[in-house]
Amino acid sequence: MPLLEGERLTKNFGGIVAVNDVSFSVERGETVGLIGPNGAGKSTLFRLITGVHEPTEGRVLLDGEEITGLAPHEICHRGLVKTHQIVRPFENLTLLENAAVGAEFGGDADDPEARAAEALEFVGLDHLAESEPDELSVGALKRLEIARVLATDPEVVLFDEVAGGLDTDETAEIIELINDISERGKTVFLIDHVMRALMSVSDSVFVLDNGELIATGTPEEIQNDQRVIEAYLGEQPDGGVAAGD
Ligand code: ADP
Ligand code: MG
Repeated sequence: MPLLEGERLTKNFGGIVAVNDVSFSVERGETVGLIGPNGAGKSTLFRLITGVHEPTEGRVLLDGEEITGLAPHEICHRGLVKTHQIVRPFENLTLLENAAVGAEFGGDADDPEARAAEALEFVGLDHLAESEPDELSVGALKRLEIARVLATDPEVVLFDEVAGGLDTDETAEIIELINDISERGKTVFLIDHVMRALMSVSDSVFVLDNGELIATGTPEEIQNDQRVIEAYLGEQPDGGVAAGD
């Protein structure tokens, strides 16, 4: 049985169909990439999965159980969590406290601070545990965001453009982290706006365009898919950043 399934998901915002009849499944332990041009509906699809938005139609199943309509903290408690595309940590909390907020959100941590400390160490920010986030580089902010979700002790992690706005070195660090997370047995579902380095960590790739799933396959198949190439024609090489969470 797949660990995560979407069944005919549709999200309508007034007249805009942001996600249109999308079905997919992700196996336990798999790393799946989700790509598509700006405005394709990638972040909206992730928000349907994590309970930020309720789908207009369709269902989401986690480990065979329906989670459609549950609140984000309830879904997090069941082991599924997402990083935000735009990272906004609590400015007046330390890094440790920020990560501990994640542990609390996950629900059953008996020692949120210990779990937060472990997560900070995993992302390489333990030496800054007592600092505040305003001192962090963009790359470090992204790693703090990863620590926050790992502190929830998830089984499935969704990353929304976690390498967006990063330089080559910072991107390489993030890819290494995602590889480590995957090697620890977590199921990973990640959005990337452009067909780039994150493709290299994906076992399979889904492509959204205009709210519709237009292709699924291995990274290699996707890179050579004519419909996918056409979907990206006319795009700015560096894209823009769409709405936040
Ligand atoms: P992507 O993440 O692929 O760039 P989004 O999921 O952010 O795309 O957006 C898909 C479409 O849905 C866009 O046209 C966007 O303007 C629209 N959209 C996203 N969120 C909302 C919202 N909360 N209200 C209205 N329209 C939205
Ligand atoms: Mg987005």
